Amino acid sequence: MLCPRCQQDDIVKAKIKAIEAFIFTCPECDATWFKIEEIGVAPFLDFATYMNSIGLAGMWEELEVIAERVWVSVISARGVKGQRVVRGKWGQTTFRKHCENVV
Ligand SMILES: [Zn+2]
Repeated sequence: MLCPRCQQDDIVKAKIKAIEAFIFTCPECDATWFKIEEIGVAPFLDFATYMNSIGLAGMWEELEVIAERVWVSVISARGVKGQRVVRGKWGQTTFRKHCENVV
């Protein structure tokens, strides 16, 4: 799915190797979420800021990309058809979010 913050790149699912935790992050602007359900809904963290907070450098090499595609499909929508993300919210639209594992 296109990053709801910058709309410049696709969100990837990645594992932080050092702590074996998963994050969803934008390679372009570094917006980071911890749950797929939160992407574009909950406030994002900056990737490097988060990594620093857990004692890591915040380098891309500290990640193992798990899924290069994370996407959403609309399962119900009460908003305007074709509405785009506004201020990081998905409005009244409910999405189901998926990950495709890298083979
Ligand atoms: Zn972004």
